[in-house]
Amino acid sequence: MPPATATPVRRVVGAGPTGLMLGCLLRHHGIQCTVIEQRDGIDPRTRAVMVHASGLETPFPYYVNVPQPDVEAVLAARFTTAGGRLLRGLRYTRHQQDEHGVTAETVTDGAPHTITLL
Ligand SMILES: Cc1cc2nc3c(=O)[nH]c(=O)nc-3n(C[C@H](O)[C@H](O)[C@H](O)COP(=O)(O)OP(=O)(O)OC[C@H]3O[C@@H](n4cnc5c(N)ncnc54)[C@H](O)[C@@H]3O)c2cc1C
Repeated sequence: MPPATATPVRRVVGAGPTGLMLGCLLRHHGIQCTVIEQRDGIDPRTRAVMVHASGLETPFPYYVNVPQPDVEAVLAARFTTAGGRLLRGLRYTRHQQDEHGVTAETVTDGAPHTITLL
């Protein structure tokens, strides 16, 4: 059984809206979090352009038109401001855990790396 840790830590692969939102929620609950993203920056391509009312958690009967890159920029800023660790330019391949913590194996520019995630 792994040793109990006083401060839980989470690793999230992918800094899309899902991963960044999850990172923000974890930080909101005081949980340390590292998000690993293979892209060097935010994907500028047009994809999601609207947020439905159900996603806003409000009773308003409309949706908000906002480009996905803008949403990701806001979430990334909020995540890092809240103390989250965002690592870009690293493609996650696998991780290992022992009594000292967790290391992730990543690839950047075709070269393998090992990073300590706590
Ligand atoms: C052309 C197009 C139009 C769309 N239009 C709409 C729309 O109008 N409305 C709507 O609601 N949705 C739309 N979508 C869907 C919307 O873009 C997705 O639902 C949304 O991007 C999903 O977010 P996500 O965070 O789950 O995944 P993604 O946005 O795919 O994010 C996943 C991230 O993980 C990273 N990643 C993956 N593997 C690794 C790895 N091994 N190591 C490190 N990083 C990794 C990727 O680089 C990526 O940045 C559209 C999609 C497309 C393609």
